[in-house]
Amino acid sequence: MTEQTENQTKTVLITGGSRGIGAAIAHKFAANGYHIIIVSRSGSTPEHVDALTAYGVEVRDFKGDVTDFSFAKEIMDTVKADFNTLDVLVNNAGITRDTLLMRMKESDFDAVIDINLKGTFNFIQAASKLMMKQRAGAIINIASVVGEMGNVGQANYAASKAGMLGLTKSAARELGMRGITVNAVAPGYIETDMTDEMPEKAKAAMLENIPLSKLGQPSDIAEAVYFLATQSYITGTTLDVNGGLYM
Ligand code: NAD
Repeated sequence: MTEQTENQTKTVLITGGSRGIGAAIAHKFAANGYHIIIVSRSGSTPEHVDALTAYGVEVRDFKGDVTDFSFAKEIMDTVKADFNTLDVLVNNAGITRDTLLMRMKESDFDAVIDINLKGTFNFIQAASKLMMKQRAGAIINIASVVGEMGNVGQANYAASKAGMLGLTKSAARELGMRGITVNAVAPGYIETDMTDEMPEKAKAAMLENIPLSKLGQPSDIAEAVYFLATQSYITGTTLDVNGGLYM
């Protein structure tokens, strides 16, 4: 069932792996023989877990909040007990709470920063303890083109994603000497539940700025993440996967 067998014993933890981009990332790694650990707010559907298990790998599905550091630590203890190693961490859980800057409530700002940025920090800190002992590992943070360019109505989201890029570069500097790579993938506009909410008019306007004239698919991001996870001499960088989008 699997594409290759050489990675049979490897493990990947994907936050937000229950649906959308995270689910596509889980499929890509499962197809390559990785055991899959998913962390998400509402848990995965049994169909999603069954589809991943059908690749012949083990799947663990945890329900919880990435903003809770003790939860991140508990997950790592379980991973260590069950698999002994964590080879790849993908920080993908994220939310938007869009509104113009002047109308943005403090709670909308805090929620987006907490989940997107602090959640990423929590899992990097918890996972890197395990990876440092192994002297190996790959961490990939799912940022956004919005973190690089900014966007109207997304000051909170842009700040969280720009913060993730700074976090990526700093973590890469600190963890490189322990054999751990840390990189970011910055998606453009990808067809998921998150972009389904976008008005058709806004989607059409967006397409005018995408040289490849189409929205991306979750599998496009999964390919980029898998590439970064399986190479050994790229760290601290951001891989743009956006169809050439310019703003
Ligand atoms: P989605 O809304 O379909 O899925 C988000 C996932 O994150 C879900 O599994 C959800 O349970 C999980 N999650 C949210 N809050 C959580 C929390 N507090 N604790 C644990 N899990 C939590 O989103 P998506 O479109 O698949 O996006 C995935 C990532 O890609 C996000 O970080 C998003 O910012 C980024 N991104 C998406 C796009 C896009 O066009 N869809 C573009 C750029 C970046």
